[in-house]
Amino acid sequence: MTAAQKAIPVPDELNAPYWEGAKEHKLVLQHCSGCGLVSARPRVICPRCHKEEFEWKQVSGKGIIHSYVIVHQTTAAGFQDEVPYVVCHVVINEEPTCYVTANLLVDPSEYDKLTISLPVVVDFEDRGNGVVVPQWRLA
Ligand SMILES: [Zn+2]
Repeated sequence: MTAAQKAIPVPDELNAPYWEGAKEHKLVLQHCSGCGLVSARPRVICPRCHKEEFEWKQVSGKGIIHSYVIVHQTTAAGFQDEVPYVVCHVVINEEPTCYVTANLLVDPSEYDKLTISLPVVVDFEDRGNGVVVPQWRLA
C-alpha cells in the first residue's frame, strides 16, 4: 500500500501572492495600505482601519513561537508516517498581531527544548505540482 500524499494547497485569487512568494522561498504577506497591518490570513477589509486596499510584501521570515502542539496521532493524509511532528503558531517580527501557523521542522530529540518565545525562521517544503509550503525551523 502506498502512503497517502500530503495535501497540495490550491491557490485562489485572494491568496495567490502568498503562494507565488513561497515558490521563490519568500514569506509574502498581505499589508493594509491604510494602516500597515500585516495579516497572514488574506482579508477583503482591514479589521483595524476598514480600508479595502492591500499590498503584498515580503516579511523577514523571522518570529517567535506563540504556541505549539506536538502531534502524536493524525488522520491528515500524508502525515501519518511523520508523527510525532510539531505545528506552531508564530508571531512574526514585523507585526505582534500576525500569527503564521505551520509545521515546525524539528527533530523529536529536540522537543524538550521547545518553549514559548523561542525564535524561529521560515523554511520551505516543495509539495510538488509547483507548490511550495512555508514551514518554520528553530533559529
Ligand atoms: Zn488597515
